[in-house]
Amino acid sequence: MKVGRLDAGRVVLADAEAPHAGPGEVIVRLAACGVCGTDLEKVRGNYQSAGRIGHEPVGVIDEIGPGVERHRPGDRVFVHHHVPCYACAVCRRGDTTFCPTYQRTNIDPGGFAERFRVPEENVRRGAVLTLGAPVGWEDGALLEPAGCALTALRRVGFRAGDSVFIVGLGPVGLLYARLAHAMGAGWVGGAELSPLRRAAAARGGAEATVDPREDGAAEQLVAEATGGIGVDVSVVATGAPAAVSLASRLPRRGGTLNLFGLPEAKSRLDVDLQALYLHGTRIVPTYATTERDIADVHALVASGRLAIRDLVTHRVPLARIDEAFRLAAAPAEALKVVVTGPALGPGA
Ligand SMILES: [Zn+2]
Ligand SMILES: [Zn+2]
Repeated sequence: MKVGRLDAGRVVLADAEAPHAGPGEVIVRLAACGVCGTDLEKVRGNYQSAGRIGHEPVGVIDEIGPGVERHRPGDRVFVHHHVPCYACAVCRRGDTTFCPTYQRTNIDPGGFAERFRVPEENVRRGAVLTLGAPVGWEDGALLEPAGCALTALRRVGFRAGDSVFIVGLGPVGLLYARLAHAMGAGWVGGAELSPLRRAAAARGGAEATVDPREDGAAEQLVAEATGGIGVDVSVVATGAPAAVSLASRLPRRGGTLNLFGLPEAKSRLDVDLQALYLHGTRIVPTYATTERDIADVHALVASGRLAIRDLVTHRVPLARIDEAFRLAAAPAEALKVVVTGPALGPGA
């Protein structure tokens, strides 16, 4: 079978042995897998946790191993690549995405493969989620990044009525905006360079957006929207270091700065610490998501309360994975790009 992998800073299509299901395991035939910003960072060599690419896959179960009871061949599923242990000191305090077990677990050989194996641990802890009928393949391929946004909103203590400003409206920033809106945000605004992305935010998610190259535009927009107070939650949804200093100027007193996007490697925080102290800004980094939050996002999509499908602008077959990565790195051309696999039937 074919698999897309990282090879010396490039994404290449390679041949691999098709996996089979051992006890408790599941084999999934790929329908689609989103290209994530972190996949692009791995190609650039900017991500410490390099290694496998493709962690937003949906597909059809092809094979189940002995002992698997909750799933059957033919089920349409989303698969989450990492699962926490739920038992260690980190998990017991609710910080499950920082569990040491979490990053160790993974699907094999990754999400950009014609078939992939889901380890017993992931299957047992509920990382294989059956898609509801109204949830299309595009929706499914967006569940993991949308789950990251939900995990973030929960970790920052978001409440209905809160105002939110997002610096960086790439696919995951757009999902953050749509989700905050669906959860009752009082006001959502954003800053983004790409007109294509700002238009997607205007279609749903954000009340207003600005181009961050306009000096003072974000500060002015936030001041107007909040009566000069500042937002409850200011989100950094890009790795650009300038985004952090912009976002750090926008929270209200006692508000939150959410470090959400993967920061540039070796970047340092340059903020006025005394101002931060007197302002009472909480800095909350949030990383990744859990199968539980993904299941909650799935319920929102299935019920029609969260519309996200239009954020997928390109479907590229696995055979042309290099083209998928090129597009995903071109904010003027594409929003979310998904790589498609053999399970994607006509009209799916
Ligand atoms: Zn992702
Ligand atoms: Zn744990």
